[in-house]
Amino acid sequence: MENSSNGKLLQESLTHKWKNVWEYIDDNERNKIFEINEEYKSFLDRGKTEREAVKEIIRIATENGYVSLDEIIEKGIKPTPGMKIYANNKDKSIVLFVIGKEKLEKGMNIVGSHLDSPRLDLKQFPLYEDESLALLKTHYYGGIKKYQWVTLPLALHGVVINEKGEKINVVIGEDEEDPVFFITDLLPHLGKDQMEKRMSEGITGEGLNILIGSIPYNDKDINEKVKLNILKILNDKYGIKEEDFTTAEFQAVPAGKSRDVGLDRSMVAGYGQDDRVCAFTSLRAILDVESPNKTAVALFVDKEEIGSVGNTSMESKFFEYVVSELINLTEDNYSELILKRALANSSVLSADTVGAFDPNYPEVMDKRNSPYLGKGIVLVKYTGARGKSGCNDANSEYIAKIRRIFNDNKVIWQMGELGKVDQGGGGTIAYILANYGMEVVDCGVSLLSCHAPYEISSKADVYMAYKGYKAFYNA
Ligand SMILES: [Zn+2]
Repeated sequence: MENSSNGKLLQESLTHKWKNVWEYIDDNERNKIFEINEEYKSFLDRGKTEREAVKEIIRIATENGYVSLDEIIEKGIKPTPGMKIYANNKDKSIVLFVIGKEKLEKGMNIVGSHLDSPRLDLKQFPLYEDESLALLKTHYYGGIKKYQWVTLPLALHGVVINEKGEKINVVIGEDEEDPVFFITDLLPHLGKDQMEKRMSEGITGEGLNILIGSIPYNDKDINEKVKLNILKILNDKYGIKEEDFTTAEFQAVPAGKSRDVGLDRSMVAGYGQDDRVCAFTSLRAILDVESPNKTAVALFVDKEEIGSVGNTSMESKFFEYVVSELINLTEDNYSELILKRALANSSVLSADTVGAFDPNYPEVMDKRNSPYLGKGIVLVKYTGARGKSGCNDANSEYIAKIRRIFNDNKVIWQMGELGKVDQGGGGTIAYILANYGMEVVDCGVSLLSCHAPYEISSKADVYMAYKGYKAFYNA
């Protein structure tokens, strides 16, 4: 008997098992989990596009004492430790700073997430009529499985810039009284040919046309009466003409609010959790940061889902530019060397989502290295596919530092990978920040049904992400 209990002790001291968050928290933390997730769901519902998310972040940041960089520059204010500053990039990406006690040159602690999510964008000349039905042409954005977007209630979110240059915000389909929109699918009785196609071809990109109306304008002398009637409704309500679509950005997203999942209400189903779960938790974490040693940075970028290209993406020089402005304000003599040092000495958590182990699809995951729902924030050393290609492979020294921060602060975490070795993989913004010489590791929340119209997260993981990012900022 003595031998076996020795063995048990040895096993406990030498082997490692990831913890299920729910089994390792007290009542106080359990309550906090449910509280923070109410805030989280509201954040998801208020920010279904990158523009709406930026607006919401500015609203929350301003309420919490953040001042815009433009105002600081205009008034010639010198940033001092503890000062809270935000910089808005074209209403699509944004960065928040809490100025640290150390000089910027010593580096920053950055958590970087993205605000864009897969969706259906309207084409620039979208409205047409076919056999007395009015429809909208779309071009999908990001990695979607097209078959998931048919027969699903959709809402339209967007902005239109009219001829006078006025910006008109449009949201239709979120209010309970609002109409919603649908993409149709073939009835099974006529679906024989469709069902024999490959899943990726059963629904085509050009087939993702959104049904928007069917009542003809009452005038027998004209054609395309249904289209005209829709244009009239849009014109009456928003002052929009057909040409205005060319200067608009409309996104069709799943209509409705995020919901609790499970009889135990342990999970959240909602649209756009990749990556607004990391955006929300890093925002929530930086709001709790008062006077950090190193400048704390919450970076929220756009266009990650299409490869981080364009002037609101991580590849744009916006972040670098904003740090230059801060150095210019804090230092007596601006120099590019100080900027380079500030960037190279920084530490980053690239905050993005990763697929959680799904018991319905065990064949694509390595059970020993997959992240699990409810086992805490996930560290991902590398995300690339087939021979780690194209990814940021984080340094052991840096992962060790993060491990220590998490363990010291009772953050429940797990190590995970993005699927089996030759199964897939993916990219995040990690490698772009790593180009500056920063230490970067992917660190976020695992999801079920990632990139589907509704994704599922664990409330425990949302809480641990918040706790982990906060510990990182305060380290
Ligand atoms: Zn993502």
